[in-house]
Amino acid sequence: MPTSVANRFLLLYGSQTGQAKAISEEIAEKARDQNLCADIHCLSLTEKRFFLEREKCVVIVTSTTGDGEPPDTALKFVRRLKKMLPDDHLSHLHYALLGLGDSNYTNFCNCGKSLDKRLQDLGAKRFYESGWADDAVGLEVAVEPWIDGLWPALKRFLKLPGAELGGGDAENITVDTHIISTNNTTLTGSTVIETGNKSTQSDISKNSTVPILTNGKKEENAESSQMSCDINQSDCNNSCVTQTTSSTNKINIVHKTENGTSHTTSTDSSIKKCGVAVSLPPLSESTLTVPLLPPSFLKIEFHPQQSVNICDIPRQNGCDFPSSATPVTMTTVSEIKTLTSDTAVKKAMFVELDIKESDIQYKPGDSFSVVCPNDETEVQSLLTRLNVLSEIDTCVKISVLENTKKRNASIPKFVPEVSTLRHIFTTCLDIREPPKKALLRVLLEYTSCVEEKRRLQELCSKQGNEEYARFIREPSLSILDILNNFSSCHPPVDRLIEHLPRLQPRPYSVCCSSLTLTGKISFIFNVVDIEADNGRTYYRKGMCTGWLGRNVSFYRKGIADPRVYGDGNIPIFGRTNQSFHMPDDVTVPLILIGPGTGVAPFIGFLDHRCSERQTLTDTEFGEVWLFYGCRHKDRDYLFRDKLANHLSTLVLTKLHVSFSRDELPSESPRYVQDNLRLHGAEVVSLIEERNAVIYVCGDAKNMAKDVNQAFIDIFAKCKGITNEESSKLIMMLRLNRRYKEDVWT
Ligand code: FAD
Ligand code: NAP
Repeated sequence: MPTSVANRFLLLYGSQTGQAKAISEEIAEKARDQNLCADIHCLSLTEKRFFLEREKCVVIVTSTTGDGEPPDTALKFVRRLKKMLPDDHLSHLHYALLGLGDSNYTNFCNCGKSLDKRLQDLGAKRFYESGWADDAVGLEVAVEPWIDGLWPALKRFLKLPGAELGGGDAENITVDTHIISTNNTTLTGSTVIETGNKSTQSDISKNSTVPILTNGKKEENAESSQMSCDINQSDCNNSCVTQTTSSTNKINIVHKTENGTSHTTSTDSSIKKCGVAVSLPPLSESTLTVPLLPPSFLKIEFHPQQSVNICDIPRQNGCDFPSSATPVTMTTVSEIKTLTSDTAVKKAMFVELDIKESDIQYKPGDSFSVVCPNDETEVQSLLTRLNVLSEIDTCVKISVLENTKKRNASIPKFVPEVSTLRHIFTTCLDIREPPKKALLRVLLEYTSCVEEKRRLQELCSKQGNEEYARFIREPSLSILDILNNFSSCHPPVDRLIEHLPRLQPRPYSVCCSSLTLTGKISFIFNVVDIEADNGRTYYRKGMCTGWLGRNVSFYRKGIADPRVYGDGNIPIFGRTNQSFHMPDDVTVPLILIGPGTGVAPFIGFLDHRCSERQTLTDTEFGEVWLFYGCRHKDRDYLFRDKLANHLSTLVLTKLHVSFSRDELPSESPRYVQDNLRLHGAEVVSLIEERNAVIYVCGDAKNMAKDVNQAFIDIFAKCKGITNEESSKLIMMLRLNRRYKEDVWT
């Protein structure tokens, strides 16, 4: 594209899991509506498709990964900018930057923030304030207003007409109460009016007669809300199947566990509506600004005569996985055990895999990713709800819809053109991720009940940000939950294929050392249990841990799971961007903090150190302290014997364990940070005087933050400095890579 076109700007994205890319594509799409022309590229194509040195206007969207590192696709670009360059190297350039991150992590939006600073240092100027979108509260909360504000800023900078109008309004529609005809269904109660014309909007607001809904119901719509779902046990473990029926008001949820026991919960559909489906004031009385309907762009055709062998189709259509350092390898389970007692709050499992056939090489502290499928019965439930269960194994062809209004429309790369719905929904699409607002906007087009339609409008509107977060994101509702809650919504399956995100692999920390375990890799995990509650309409296990748990039980019984990847084994790949390693210098003391399954990498560290001690007999090794925590001494104390053994052989110098739920004297430490405080003076001396390195692993949401605070407190106390000075000290330890975290939400 010529760089001289007046309305052109360069649009760059650095994406790890596809979110920054999707947002950039949305910007490019919307740019056209603004009569702007986005020249969009991945940051990895620097010096191939774009040269910053030749540009005058660039918009950058980038995520952050790991412990504040750039996504793999941005590494080359970042490295290039980090080189010694003159201060005015980019003084010709004007930019806008949107960083994506997660505030549960210490280095929130670090890639975006570092890039922002570097661009400034090189003389580039912002033409629009940088935006920081937080996945902890929902990226959309910051992304939507940032994009709205981008248009006037861009137009002002490019000296194009229309800047003063503000770009955002023209992309939105305002919903109010008149008559609307959608999808050949005439609905009363709402109308859709194109805005950008402010007088229309305010006139309509004055006439607003939005129905006030009580418990989401209105008498005249009783018929449409009668539809309910029966969720019954299928032939598979730990799951359930949904059957939609209009003849019953009951929801039966039958849970079956691995050992065959089951329990049933029954709910009357007349009271099943919960917050997600209920419109209440003030939102129910508000005029809403909802996004434009995303144009449909995919067409699916069933070919019952044609057979398709899904075993021949590469996993996720052969598309590379984010963070993959090796190809995906099928591994076989060589050992499994449950680490916790039957009465433990969470069930932890240990799995050992045979990796002789793979390219995977690892160091203690590394993690690898498990490529897992969705739960088979949940897929069936969803396809039942979409009314396509009978076609689940029929050959399906996907193509781009002719005459689609979506520009540059294409089939998602991770979805094969020819396969089956079972294949697509089991292995390609994430059916658990809470639906984004754009998908809710699509769903409302296929919803007949006026109250449900209004509620979907609320949830995808700007005014509904808070309720979207509270009722959809926080309880982690799946697309099936949404459809179960909005029973008059019947979207075609192709619209879901357009909007459901890619199914992502799940990383697990290696909990072994290659010095002691050859050709194998082991890890531990907690089976995540998620109850039907708070808008969730069915009980589920964590997507990956549920599958691992089932697969492991197949292994126990000596039978493979032929329904998933053909042989019941576990596909994994090695990951890039890893830095959670022990120092090369074995004399450096280590302070390890890992409650729960967060202890996993430290088991690898200790096994490794144990082996090194046997070979490097003349070496004086640094002290190793472990702060571990669990709930009950006798139920979930992971690796108790191994840790005791490492302690007795001095591989481990000190082991401080806290039990959070045992009945102990009130002054006993409950959490790892309590033990840290208790031994504060020694810990500070180990760090200050002997250059110890701190490692924290486990929960990011609470534990990692509380541990950080504990370090601030003990440094302040022991050194007689203020909390502010102490915080700076901890920050310096982080910058010097002496305070390392591997934490997850
Ligand atoms: P998912 O289906 O992804 O469900 C988990 C999500 O469900 C949560 O994020 C939360 O949003 C939601 N949720 C969970 N419980 C509830 C609830 N009660 N109610 C409502 N919503 C709920 N995990 C380990 O166990 N061991 C490891 O060694 C390990 N190492 C990791 C290393 C790295 C580098 C990273 C990034 C993560 C690691 N994890 C580890 C986490 C792991 O990757 C998975 O996230 C975890 O196992 C859950 O995956 P899942 O697919 O079973 O759950
Ligand atoms: P967990 O739920 O974190 O619980 C372990 C112990 O920590 C319990 O005794 C718990 O006590 C306690 N705890 C709760 N809140 C705490 C706080 N604010 N500070 C300190 N301790 C606290 O353990 P888990 O179930 O094993 O989960 C660990 C988490 O780490 C999971 O999210 C897992 O996915 C993740 N993980 C990440 C990595 C990685 O990133 N490399 C590796 C392994 C695990 P109470 O429950 O009694 O309050």
